[in-house]
Amino acid sequence: MNKHSAEREQLDGIGVSPGIACGKAFLHISGFPEYKEEIVLEEAIPQEIDKVKRAFEQTSHDMEHIKTQASDSESKDLTGVLDAQILIVADPEFQNQVIDKIECMQYSAIFAFTSSVNDNIEMLSRSKDPYMREMVADIETVSNHILKHLLGERHKELTGFSEPAILFASYFNPGEILEMPNLNVTGFVTEKGGPTSHMGLFAKSLGIPAVVAVRANLKQIPSGSRIVVDGNKGIVIVNPADDEWEEYQKISHARREARFKRFEQIHELPSSTRDSHHVEIMANLDLPTSLDEILAHEHVGIGLYRTEFLYLKRANFPSEADQTKVYYDIAKKFAPQNVILRTFDLGGDKLTDYFKSEFEINPALGWRAIRFSLDVMPIFEVQLRAMLKASTLKNVSIMLPLITTLDEVQKAKRLLEKIKKDLHEEKAAFDEDIKFGIMIETPAAVMIADYLAEEVDFFSIGTNDLTQYTMAVDRNNKRVAKHFQVFHPAIIYSIKKTVEAAHKAGKPVGICGEIAGDPLATKLLVGLGVDSLSMNPASIPVVKGILPKIGFEEALKFSQKILKLTTEKEITETLMKDFKESNLNNSLNKKGELKNA
Ligand code: PEP
Ligand code: MG
Repeated sequence: MNKHSAEREQLDGIGVSPGIACGKAFLHISGFPEYKEEIVLEEAIPQEIDKVKRAFEQTSHDMEHIKTQASDSESKDLTGVLDAQILIVADPEFQNQVIDKIECMQYSAIFAFTSSVNDNIEMLSRSKDPYMREMVADIETVSNHILKHLLGERHKELTGFSEPAILFASYFNPGEILEMPNLNVTGFVTEKGGPTSHMGLFAKSLGIPAVVAVRANLKQIPSGSRIVVDGNKGIVIVNPADDEWEEYQKISHARREARFKRFEQIHELPSSTRDSHHVEIMANLDLPTSLDEILAHEHVGIGLYRTEFLYLKRANFPSEADQTKVYYDIAKKFAPQNVILRTFDLGGDKLTDYFKSEFEINPALGWRAIRFSLDVMPIFEVQLRAMLKASTLKNVSIMLPLITTLDEVQKAKRLLEKIKKDLHEEKAAFDEDIKFGIMIETPAAVMIADYLAEEVDFFSIGTNDLTQYTMAVDRNNKRVAKHFQVFHPAIIYSIKKTVEAAHKAGKPVGICGEIAGDPLATKLLVGLGVDSLSMNPASIPVVKGILPKIGFEEALKFSQKILKLTTEKEITETLMKDFKESNLNNSLNKKGELKNA
């Protein structure tokens, strides 16, 4: 390839994920580096060995986390790939090889590790067995992960692109691919990989066109070049001619539009039952996604903004100014709709590298969410200040996660009042009447909901955690997944009790757990009296399509009938039966999507 040429060039590879993607080239460096030989003092050997052990341990933990993310997303069937990578980290021979080099040769942890990995890669690359050669990509993925821990650095995260980007690399690991839809990456191209490589499986399930095993030196493609990825034909066109570029762009836009079409005009669908009982339909937001613009355009508010994702992506806590900007940008984008910013739900399995707690046997019951915030007041104060400063458009609300005691709410409120006073003195603008609410996601909060309701402006029920804590089932543990029963009578009763407590105090109550986006649950939740449902954006057209088919009085009676049932099985069966009999299923196609959308 001619480095400086803007001439059209076609690269051949293997199309592993169909579709056409157009965008600007961006080179993402990966592969596995080599380090210079480094000898350590004899006394330092135990310390170097310890570093290696810890890096392997942290990587196993990270990979399990990525696997959970994959099984939560549409990539469910792909966890097998991650299982293979987890096995590589767990292989004692891999770790022993590195430790032997430290003990026998007095190599530093980093040199012992990188030289072992490079030896293994070289050996496997020379193998005649294609399966062994394909293992190289998995070993590189895992080894890069371990290396980052050894170096004590954060992952070199990809950041979002302002225009559609096509990423080029030697290969991509699963975590990187899962991130792509959130970063405006529309396609990717790699040097390595084969027809069955994990990259294709992940790309396909996320709908990202991809071509792998391209026979070219990708490093020579200038960043910013126009690129077309044709995942159907397995070709990549660099610098297509103008008319060809336009043609391909049309095809790729049509594809994107088909995805967005389901969201068009959803604001024209009434957010109420057929007898005009209003229920607000809102979106849960984690990282910025390509759907943000359309959600904002369709007047959807944000019922849950998980701010901890902002923290997890960075090498240190973001400053007050950084946070204010992020929160304000979201508030502005969605104004005048309401945006509920949840204070960070850090801790448990969501810990940052720069703020690690001690190992916890039971992290879900540990130092998490509001407990963490109240213990690290200066950080909490910065976050609350940023939220207040971002509230000048008067559409921001603040919400606290994982409340179990009245005291937690009162402490946070006192801090908020102090900050308001400080901001007055500093003459900084903010919304004096900012709404302050809490999540109801523990049985303790349900039980004292009457008292809590007096203290706050609103409730939002987090049924994911409420189910975890009520049913005593780890929400991330596949083995006990069948016990994670969101339609268990205890959960339905908890929702009823929470709604009653809120309404008795004249406060609104929403739901932002996954149940809010389940079409099977819509009638029941409306009947239980919830005022808003905040969900995964993909569920919004479905639930908004169902709502006008429900009568409020009928939903009320239906919920009373459900509340008399004693098992999860009976409740689920009754919901399904009614769903069919009320013809609610008529609005959905076989994939659970809204018909004619
Ligand atoms: C919940 O627990 O239901 C919830 C919405 O919060 P998260 O899923 O972020 O814990
Ligand atoms: Mg929760």
